[in-house]
Amino acid sequence: MHLRAVREGHFNKGQSTSGTRYLIGRYHEITLKGRNRWRFVRQLKHNLVEVFGDYSLNRIHLEGPRIIVELPRALTDQIATERAKLIFGLQNFSISHAVPLDIEAIKRQAVAIAACGVAACPERTFRVSSRRAEKRFGLTSMEIDREVGAEVSSALGLKVDLENPQMTISIEILPGVAYVSAGKITGAGGLPVGVTGRGLVLLSGGIDSPVAAYRMMRRGMRVDFVHFHSYPLVSSASRDKARELAAHLTRYQARSSLMLVPFAAAQREIVARVPRPLRVVVYRRVMLAIASELAERVGAQVLITGESLGQVASQTLENMMIIQQAARHPVLRPLIGMDKNEIVSEARRLSTFETSIQPDEDCCTLFTPAHPETHARFDQVAQAEAMLAMDQLVQQAVKSTEIVLNAFPRPTTE
Ligand code: ATP
Ligand code: MG
Repeated sequence: MHLRAVREGHFNKGQSTSGTRYLIGRYHEITLKGRNRWRFVRQLKHNLVEVFGDYSLNRIHLEGPRIIVELPRALTDQIATERAKLIFGLQNFSISHAVPLDIEAIKRQAVAIAACGVAACPERTFRVSSRRAEKRFGLTSMEIDREVGAEVSSALGLKVDLENPQMTISIEILPGVAYVSAGKITGAGGLPVGVTGRGLVLLSGGIDSPVAAYRMMRRGMRVDFVHFHSYPLVSSASRDKARELAAHLTRYQARSSLMLVPFAAAQREIVARVPRPLRVVVYRRVMLAIASELAERVGAQVLITGESLGQVASQTLENMMIIQQAARHPVLRPLIGMDKNEIVSEARRLSTFETSIQPDEDCCTLFTPAHPETHARFDQVAQAEAMLAMDQLVQQAVKSTEIVLNAFPRPTTE
Protein backbone atom coordinates (compact mmCIF):
# COMPACT_ATOMS: atom_id res chain seq x y z
CA MET A 1 0.00 0.00 0.00
CA HIS A 2 2.76 2.43 0.87
CA LEU A 3 4.51 1.84 -2.45
CA ARG A 4 1.24 1.99 -4.28
CA ALA A 5 0.26 5.20 -2.49
CA VAL A 6 3.51 6.80 -3.50
CA ARG A 7 3.29 5.45 -7.05
CA GLU A 8 -0.26 6.67 -7.46
CA GLY A 9 0.71 10.08 -6.20
CA HIS A 10 -1.09 9.93 -2.85
CA PHE A 11 1.95 11.74 -1.53
CA ASN A 12 3.46 14.66 -3.26
CA LYS A 13 7.21 14.37 -2.70
CA GLY A 14 6.81 13.95 1.05
CA GLN A 15 4.59 16.99 1.48
CA SER A 16 1.33 16.74 3.40
CA THR A 17 -1.60 15.73 1.23
CA SER A 18 -4.19 16.97 3.65
CA GLY A 19 -6.08 18.51 0.75
CA THR A 20 -6.85 15.08 -0.74
CA ARG A 21 -9.91 13.36 0.64
CA TYR A 22 -10.76 9.69 0.62
CA LEU A 23 -13.93 7.79 1.11
CA ILE A 24 -13.03 4.83 3.30
CA GLY A 25 -15.74 2.20 3.19
CA ARG A 26 -15.65 -0.72 5.62
CA TYR A 27 -17.35 -4.05 5.21
CA HIS A 28 -17.82 -6.98 7.54
CA GLU A 29 -15.13 -9.52 6.88
CA ILE A 30 -16.66 -12.29 8.94
CA THR A 31 -19.48 -13.03 6.52
CA LEU A 32 -17.06 -13.34 3.63
CA LYS A 33 -15.21 -16.53 3.04
CA GLY A 34 -12.95 -17.78 0.26
CA ARG A 35 -13.83 -16.88 -3.30
CA ASN A 36 -17.03 -15.27 -2.15
CA ARG A 37 -15.02 -12.46 -0.71
CA TRP A 38 -13.55 -11.42 -4.04
CA ARG A 39 -16.89 -11.53 -5.77
CA PHE A 40 -18.30 -9.35 -3.00
CA VAL A 41 -15.45 -6.87 -3.11
CA ARG A 42 -15.44 -6.68 -6.91
CA GLN A 43 -19.16 -5.94 -6.93
CA LEU A 44 -18.82 -3.39 -4.12
CA LYS A 45 -16.15 -1.58 -6.11
CA HIS A 46 -18.24 -1.68 -9.28
CA ASN A 47 -21.30 -0.34 -7.42
CA LEU A 48 -19.27 2.51 -5.90
CA VAL A 49 -17.99 3.55 -9.31
CA GLU A 50 -21.55 3.49 -10.63
CA VAL A 51 -23.10 5.52 -7.82
CA PHE A 52 -20.46 8.20 -8.44
CA GLY A 53 -20.83 7.77 -12.21
CA ASP A 54 -21.01 11.52 -12.81
CA TYR A 55 -17.66 12.08 -11.06
CA SER A 56 -15.61 9.32 -12.68
CA LEU A 57 -13.69 7.85 -9.78
CA ASN A 58 -10.51 6.11 -10.81
CA ARG A 59 -8.31 5.75 -7.78
CA ILE A 60 -9.69 2.91 -5.73
CA HIS A 61 -7.74 0.40 -3.73
CA LEU A 62 -8.28 -2.16 -1.02
CA GLU A 63 -6.68 -2.35 2.37
CA GLY A 64 -7.84 -5.11 4.72
CA PRO A 65 -11.62 -4.90 5.07
CA ARG A 66 -11.62 -1.41 3.59
CA ILE A 67 -12.22 0.02 0.19
CA ILE A 68 -10.44 3.34 -0.25
CA VAL A 69 -11.56 5.77 -2.91
CA GLU A 70 -9.86 9.04 -3.75
CA LEU A 71 -12.51 11.75 -3.99
CA PRO A 72 -12.25 14.25 -6.83
CA ARG A 73 -12.18 17.90 -5.77
CA ALA A 74 -15.58 18.64 -7.33
CA LEU A 75 -17.26 16.05 -5.13
CA THR A 76 -18.40 17.68 -1.88
CA ASP A 77 -18.37 15.84 1.46
CA GLN A 78 -22.14 16.10 1.52
CA ILE A 79 -22.67 14.46 -1.86
CA ALA A 80 -20.03 11.84 -1.10
CA THR A 81 -21.87 11.01 2.13
CA GLU A 82 -25.33 10.91 0.55
CA ARG A 83 -24.16 8.62 -2.22
CA ALA A 84 -22.09 6.32 -0.01
CA LYS A 85 -25.19 5.74 2.14
CA LEU A 86 -26.81 4.12 -0.90
CA ILE A 87 -24.19 1.41 -1.20
CA PHE A 88 -25.24 -1.90 0.30
CA GLY A 89 -22.35 -3.87 1.72
CA LEU A 90 -20.78 -0.93 3.57
CA GLN A 91 -21.14 -1.25 7.34
CA ASN A 92 -19.78 2.22 7.83
CA PHE A 93 -17.60 4.75 6.06
CA SER A 94 -15.79 8.00 6.61
CA ILE A 95 -14.62 10.94 4.58
CA SER A 96 -10.96 11.01 5.51
CA HIS A 97 -7.84 13.04 4.89
CA ALA A 98 -4.58 11.24 4.22
CA VAL A 99 -1.42 12.36 6.00
CA PRO A 100 2.06 10.90 6.25
CA LEU A 101 2.78 8.54 9.15
CA ASP A 102 3.98 11.28 11.42
CA ILE A 103 2.31 12.20 14.70
CA GLU A 104 2.77 15.94 14.10
CA ALA A 105 1.07 15.73 10.71
CA ILE A 106 -1.74 13.69 12.27
CA LYS A 107 -2.23 16.25 15.02
CA ARG A 108 -2.38 19.13 12.52
CA GLN A 109 -5.00 17.33 10.47
CA ALA A 110 -7.02 16.41 13.57
CA VAL A 111 -7.08 20.04 14.70
CA ALA A 112 -8.15 21.18 11.22
CA ILE A 113 -11.02 18.66 11.18
CA ALA A 114 -12.12 19.52 14.71
CA ALA A 115 -12.05 23.24 13.81
CA CYS A 116 -14.35 22.51 10.84
CA GLY A 117 -16.71 20.64 13.15
CA VAL A 118 -16.75 23.54 15.58
CA ALA A 119 -17.45 25.98 12.73
CA ALA A 120 -20.41 23.91 11.53
CA CYS A 121 -21.94 23.65 14.98
CA PRO A 122 -20.22 24.76 18.13
CA GLU A 123 -19.34 21.34 19.48
CA ARG A 124 -17.66 21.42 22.83
CA THR A 125 -16.79 17.83 23.63
CA PHE A 126 -14.87 15.31 21.57
CA ARG A 127 -12.88 12.14 21.67
CA VAL A 128 -10.15 10.70 19.51
CA SER A 129 -10.50 7.11 18.43
CA SER A 130 -7.55 5.54 16.66
CA ARG A 131 -6.93 2.13 15.15
CA ARG A 132 -3.52 0.90 14.31
CA ALA A 133 -3.51 -1.66 11.51
CA GLU A 134 0.18 -0.87 10.95
CA LYS A 135 1.73 -2.06 14.21
CA ARG A 136 5.16 -0.66 13.35
CA PHE A 137 3.98 2.88 14.00
CA GLY A 138 5.89 4.22 17.01
CA LEU A 139 2.87 4.91 19.24
CA THR A 140 0.08 2.64 20.44
CA SER A 141 -3.56 3.53 19.77
CA MET A 142 -3.94 4.81 23.30
CA GLU A 143 -0.87 6.99 23.02
CA ILE A 144 -2.12 8.42 19.73
CA ASP A 145 -5.52 9.16 21.30
CA ARG A 146 -3.87 10.89 24.20
CA GLU A 147 -1.38 12.98 22.19
CA VAL A 148 -3.84 14.06 19.52
CA GLY A 149 -6.55 14.67 22.13
CA ALA A 150 -4.27 16.96 24.11
CA GLU A 151 -3.39 18.92 20.96
CA VAL A 152 -7.02 19.40 19.85
CA SER A 153 -7.99 20.35 23.36
CA SER A 154 -5.34 23.01 23.75
CA ALA A 155 -5.68 24.37 20.19
CA LEU A 156 -9.46 24.75 20.25
CA GLY A 157 -10.39 24.68 23.92
CA LEU A 158 -12.58 21.58 23.54
CA LYS A 159 -13.23 19.09 26.34
CA VAL A 160 -12.58 15.37 26.05
CA ASP A 161 -15.61 13.17 26.71
CA LEU A 162 -14.96 9.48 26.17
CA GLU A 163 -18.51 8.33 26.96
CA ASN A 164 -20.74 10.66 25.04
CA PRO A 165 -18.72 13.01 22.83
CA GLN A 166 -20.38 15.49 20.46
CA MET A 167 -17.63 14.89 17.93
CA THR A 168 -15.31 11.97 17.26
CA ILE A 169 -12.02 12.26 15.43
CA SER A 170 -11.13 8.89 13.93
CA ILE A 171 -7.57 8.00 13.01
CA GLU A 172 -6.54 4.92 11.09
CA ILE A 173 -2.88 4.02 10.90
CA LEU A 174 -2.31 1.90 7.80
CA PRO A 175 0.94 0.85 6.15
CA GLY A 176 2.55 4.02 4.82
CA VAL A 177 -0.33 6.40 5.51
CA ALA A 178 -2.63 7.70 8.23
CA TYR A 179 -6.23 8.66 7.59
CA VAL A 180 -7.95 11.22 9.77
CA SER A 181 -11.70 11.85 9.68
CA ALA A 182 -14.60 13.38 11.57
CA GLY A 183 -15.83 9.99 12.75
CA LYS A 184 -17.55 7.03 11.12
CA ILE A 185 -20.91 7.27 9.42
CA THR A 186 -23.27 4.29 9.53
CA GLY A 187 -23.57 2.67 6.11
CA ALA A 188 -26.48 0.90 4.43
CA GLY A 189 -25.35 -2.57 5.61
CA GLY A 190 -26.40 -5.72 3.78
CA LEU A 191 -24.65 -7.14 0.72
CA PRO A 192 -23.66 -5.37 -2.51
CA VAL A 193 -26.42 -5.35 -5.11
CA GLY A 194 -25.62 -8.00 -7.69
CA VAL A 195 -24.04 -10.72 -5.54
CA THR A 196 -27.11 -12.81 -4.75
CA GLY A 197 -29.11 -12.90 -7.99
CA ARG A 198 -31.92 -11.14 -9.79
CA GLY A 199 -35.56 -10.59 -8.89
CA LEU A 200 -38.65 -8.98 -10.34
CA VAL A 201 -40.62 -6.86 -7.86
CA LEU A 202 -44.36 -6.50 -8.24
CA LEU A 203 -44.59 -2.80 -7.48
CA SER A 204 -48.11 -1.67 -6.73
CA GLY A 205 -47.68 2.01 -5.88
CA GLY A 206 -48.79 1.18 -2.32
CA ILE A 207 -46.74 1.29 0.88
CA ASP A 208 -45.54 -2.30 1.08
CA SER A 209 -43.95 -3.28 -2.19
CA PRO A 210 -41.27 -0.53 -2.24
CA VAL A 211 -40.18 -1.71 1.21
CA ALA A 212 -40.06 -5.30 -0.07
CA ALA A 213 -37.87 -4.16 -2.98
CA TYR A 214 -35.50 -2.34 -0.60
CA ARG A 215 -35.17 -5.41 1.62
CA MET A 216 -34.18 -7.66 -1.28
CA MET A 217 -31.74 -5.14 -2.75
CA ARG A 218 -30.17 -4.89 0.68
CA ARG A 219 -29.59 -8.64 0.58
CA GLY A 220 -27.62 -8.20 -2.63
CA MET A 221 -30.36 -8.81 -5.18
CA ARG A 222 -30.57 -6.75 -8.33
CA VAL A 223 -34.23 -6.03 -9.09
CA ASP A 224 -36.46 -4.87 -11.90
CA PHE A 225 -40.04 -3.74 -11.41
CA VAL A 226 -43.43 -4.57 -12.87
CA HIS A 227 -46.57 -2.52 -12.33
CA PHE A 228 -50.07 -3.47 -13.47
CA HIS A 229 -52.41 -0.58 -14.23
CA SER A 230 -55.85 0.02 -15.65
CA TYR A 231 -55.04 3.23 -17.50
CA PRO A 232 -56.91 4.63 -19.44
CA LEU A 233 -59.87 3.11 -17.62
CA VAL A 234 -58.67 5.03 -14.56
CA SER A 235 -56.32 8.02 -14.18
CA SER A 236 -52.59 7.57 -14.65
CA ALA A 237 -51.99 8.15 -10.89
CA SER A 238 -50.85 4.61 -10.03
CA ARG A 239 -48.53 4.47 -13.05
CA ASP A 240 -47.03 7.81 -12.09
CA LYS A 241 -46.50 6.62 -8.53
CA ALA A 242 -44.88 3.39 -9.70
CA ARG A 243 -42.56 5.39 -11.94
CA GLU A 244 -41.60 7.69 -9.11
CA LEU A 245 -41.04 4.83 -6.67
CA ALA A 246 -38.98 2.81 -9.15
CA ALA A 247 -36.82 5.85 -9.91
CA HIS A 248 -36.30 6.47 -6.19
CA LEU A 249 -35.35 2.84 -5.48
CA THR A 250 -33.00 2.76 -8.48
CA ARG A 251 -30.58 4.97 -6.51
CA TYR A 252 -29.52 1.81 -4.66
CA GLN A 253 -28.54 -0.08 -7.77
CA ALA A 254 -27.78 2.51 -10.47
CA ARG A 255 -30.21 1.19 -13.05
CA SER A 256 -33.41 -0.76 -13.39
CA SER A 257 -36.30 -1.31 -15.70
CA LEU A 258 -39.93 -0.75 -14.85
CA MET A 259 -42.45 -2.68 -16.89
CA LEU A 260 -45.88 -1.07 -17.09
CA VAL A 261 -48.48 -3.69 -17.93
CA PRO A 262 -51.94 -2.64 -19.13
CA PHE A 263 -54.33 -4.78 -17.12
CA ALA A 264 -57.76 -3.37 -18.05
CA ALA A 265 -58.44 -5.93 -20.78
CA ALA A 266 -57.68 -8.85 -18.47
CA GLN A 267 -59.83 -7.29 -15.76
CA ARG A 268 -62.79 -6.91 -18.10
CA GLU A 269 -62.51 -10.57 -19.01
CA ILE A 270 -62.31 -11.60 -15.36
CA VAL A 271 -65.32 -9.47 -14.41
CA ALA A 272 -67.29 -10.95 -17.29
CA ARG A 273 -66.45 -14.58 -16.55
CA VAL A 274 -65.40 -15.16 -12.94
CA PRO A 275 -67.82 -15.28 -9.98
CA ARG A 276 -67.44 -12.23 -7.76
CA PRO A 277 -65.89 -13.75 -4.63
CA LEU A 278 -63.11 -15.42 -6.64
CA ARG A 279 -62.09 -12.38 -8.65
CA VAL A 280 -59.36 -11.17 -6.30
CA VAL A 281 -57.62 -14.53 -6.37
CA VAL A 282 -57.93 -14.81 -10.13
CA TYR A 283 -56.62 -11.23 -10.69
CA ARG A 284 -53.59 -12.09 -8.64
CA ARG A 285 -53.04 -15.34 -10.46
CA VAL A 286 -53.16 -13.59 -13.82
CA MET A 287 -50.75 -10.96 -12.50
CA LEU A 288 -48.29 -13.62 -11.35
CA ALA A 289 -48.56 -15.50 -14.64
CA ILE A 290 -47.73 -12.29 -16.54
CA ALA A 291 -44.97 -11.39 -14.08
CA SER A 292 -43.40 -14.84 -14.57
CA GLU A 293 -43.38 -14.35 -18.32
CA LEU A 294 -41.69 -10.96 -17.89
CA ALA A 295 -39.23 -12.35 -15.33
CA GLU A 296 -38.11 -14.81 -17.96
CA ARG A 297 -37.37 -11.94 -20.34
CA VAL A 298 -35.34 -9.87 -17.89
CA GLY A 299 -33.48 -12.85 -16.46
CA ALA A 300 -35.06 -12.67 -12.98
CA GLN A 301 -34.93 -15.89 -10.95
CA VAL A 302 -37.68 -14.98 -8.46
CA LEU A 303 -40.73 -12.78 -8.06
CA ILE A 304 -40.97 -10.45 -5.05
CA THR A 305 -44.14 -9.07 -3.48
CA GLY A 306 -45.00 -6.83 -0.54
CA GLU A 307 -47.42 -9.32 0.96
CA SER A 308 -47.67 -9.74 4.71
CA LEU A 309 -49.62 -12.57 6.26
CA GLY A 310 -53.27 -11.81 6.92
CA GLN A 311 -53.08 -8.15 5.89
CA VAL A 312 -55.87 -8.26 3.30
CA ALA A 313 -58.17 -10.86 1.75
CA SER A 314 -55.66 -12.03 -0.84
CA GLN A 315 -53.01 -12.53 1.82
CA THR A 316 -54.49 -15.43 3.77
CA LEU A 317 -52.32 -18.54 3.71
CA GLU A 318 -54.80 -20.43 1.52
CA ASN A 319 -55.09 -17.63 -1.03
CA MET A 320 -51.36 -16.97 -1.19
CA MET A 321 -50.73 -20.66 -1.88
CA ILE A 322 -53.26 -20.77 -4.69
CA ILE A 323 -52.04 -17.48 -6.13
CA GLN A 324 -48.40 -18.52 -6.23
CA GLN A 325 -49.21 -21.68 -8.17
CA ALA A 326 -49.87 -19.45 -11.19
CA ALA A 327 -46.18 -18.39 -11.19
CA ARG A 328 -43.38 -20.38 -12.72
CA HIS A 329 -40.91 -18.73 -10.36
CA PRO A 330 -40.60 -18.87 -6.58
CA VAL A 331 -42.36 -15.93 -4.91
CA LEU A 332 -40.35 -14.17 -2.18
CA ARG A 333 -42.26 -12.13 0.38
CA PRO A 334 -39.71 -10.31 2.52
CA LEU A 335 -42.43 -8.57 4.60
CA ILE A 336 -44.44 -11.69 5.39
CA GLY A 337 -43.93 -11.49 9.16
CA MET A 338 -44.06 -7.73 9.57
CA ASP A 339 -46.86 -5.64 11.07
CA LYS A 340 -48.23 -2.78 9.03
CA ASN A 341 -46.85 -0.18 11.44
CA GLU A 342 -43.36 -1.65 11.10
CA ILE A 343 -43.65 -1.51 7.32
CA VAL A 344 -44.87 2.09 7.54
CA SER A 345 -41.89 3.17 9.67
CA GLU A 346 -39.51 1.58 7.20
CA ALA A 347 -41.29 3.27 4.27
CA ARG A 348 -40.94 6.62 6.04
CA ARG A 349 -37.26 6.02 6.61
CA LEU A 350 -36.81 5.19 2.93
CA SER A 351 -38.82 8.26 1.88
CA THR A 352 -41.17 6.14 -0.21
CA PHE A 353 -44.11 6.67 2.17
CA GLU A 354 -45.09 10.13 0.92
CA THR A 355 -45.36 8.90 -2.66
CA SER A 356 -47.12 5.69 -1.66
CA ILE A 357 -49.94 7.46 0.18
CA GLN A 358 -50.81 9.73 -2.74
CA PRO A 359 -54.32 8.84 -3.88
CA ASP A 360 -54.66 6.58 -6.89
CA GLU A 361 -57.08 4.11 -8.31
CA ASP A 362 -55.44 0.77 -7.81
CA CYS A 363 -56.23 -1.52 -10.70
CA CYS A 364 -57.41 -4.16 -8.24
CA THR A 365 -59.54 -2.18 -5.80
CA LEU A 366 -61.49 -1.01 -8.81
CA PHE A 367 -63.05 -4.43 -9.20
CA THR A 368 -62.67 -5.77 -5.68
CA PRO A 369 -65.92 -7.29 -4.43
CA ALA A 370 -67.21 -6.30 -0.99
CA HIS A 371 -66.84 -9.89 0.28
CA PRO A 372 -63.92 -11.58 -1.42
CA GLU A 373 -63.24 -15.26 -0.80
CA THR A 374 -60.60 -15.54 1.89
CA HIS A 375 -60.19 -19.32 1.67
CA ALA A 376 -60.36 -20.08 -2.02
CA ARG A 377 -60.28 -23.73 -3.08
CA PHE A 378 -58.16 -24.76 -5.97
CA ASP A 379 -60.91 -26.68 -7.78
CA GLN A 380 -63.22 -23.63 -7.70
CA VAL A 381 -60.47 -21.39 -9.02
CA ALA A 382 -59.53 -23.86 -11.75
CA GLN A 383 -63.14 -24.09 -12.80
CA ALA A 384 -63.47 -20.30 -12.97
CA GLU A 385 -60.25 -19.96 -14.94
CA ALA A 386 -61.33 -22.57 -17.44
CA MET A 387 -63.67 -19.88 -18.74
CA LEU A 388 -60.75 -17.54 -19.42
CA ALA A 389 -58.33 -17.67 -22.33
CA MET A 390 -55.49 -17.42 -19.82
CA ASP A 391 -52.57 -17.88 -22.23
CA GLN A 392 -53.96 -15.34 -24.59
CA LEU A 393 -54.51 -12.82 -21.77
CA VAL A 394 -50.93 -13.28 -20.67
CA GLN A 395 -49.45 -12.98 -24.15
CA GLN A 396 -51.56 -9.93 -24.96
CA ALA A 397 -50.50 -8.18 -21.75
CA VAL A 398 -46.82 -8.97 -22.35
CA LYS A 399 -47.05 -7.65 -25.88
CA SER A 400 -48.52 -4.32 -24.78
CA THR A 401 -46.06 -3.84 -21.90
CA GLU A 402 -44.27 -0.52 -21.87
CA ILE A 403 -40.69 -0.38 -20.55
CA VAL A 404 -39.21 2.54 -18.63
CA LEU A 405 -35.46 2.52 -18.05
CA ASN A 406 -34.19 4.20 -14.91
CA ALA A 407 -30.64 5.27 -14.25
CA PHE A 408 -28.94 6.92 -11.32
CA PRO A 409 -27.10 9.30 -11.28
CA ARG A 410 -27.67 9.76 -15.01
CA PRO A 411 -31.01 11.20 -16.11
CA THR A 412 -33.91 8.88 -16.87
CA THR A 413 -34.34 7.78 -20.46
CA GLU A 414 -37.05 5.76 -22.04
P1 ATP B 1 -48.96 -2.53 -1.38
O1 ATP B 1 -48.96 -1.56 -0.25
O2 ATP B 1 -47.59 -2.94 -1.82
O3 ATP B 1 -49.84 -2.11 -2.52
P2 ATP B 1 -51.14 -3.96 -0.31
O4 ATP B 1 -51.15 -4.03 1.14
O5 ATP B 1 -51.99 -2.94 -0.97
O6 ATP B 1 -49.61 -3.85 -0.80
P3 ATP B 1 -52.19 -5.90 -2.10
O7 ATP B 1 -52.87 -4.82 -2.87
O8 ATP B 1 -52.95 -7.11 -1.72
O9 ATP B 1 -51.53 -5.41 -0.78
O10 ATP B 1 -50.96 -6.38 -2.92
C1 ATP B 1 -50.08 -7.36 -2.45
C2 ATP B 1 -48.83 -7.33 -3.30
O11 ATP B 1 -49.17 -7.64 -4.66
C3 ATP B 1 -48.20 -5.94 -3.37
O12 ATP B 1 -47.34 -5.71 -2.29
C4 ATP B 1 -47.48 -6.02 -4.67
O13 ATP B 1 -46.26 -6.71 -4.55
C5 ATP B 1 -48.42 -6.84 -5.54
N1 ATP B 1 -49.34 -5.92 -6.28
C6 ATP B 1 -50.58 -5.54 -5.95
N2 ATP B 1 -51.10 -4.71 -6.87
C7 ATP B 1 -50.16 -4.56 -7.82
C8 ATP B 1 -50.06 -3.81 -9.04
N3 ATP B 1 -51.05 -3.04 -9.45
N4 ATP B 1 -48.92 -3.91 -9.75
C9 ATP B 1 -47.89 -4.67 -9.32
N5 ATP B 1 -47.92 -5.38 -8.20
C10 ATP B 1 -49.03 -5.33 -7.45
MG1 MG C 1 -52.07 -2.33 -3.05
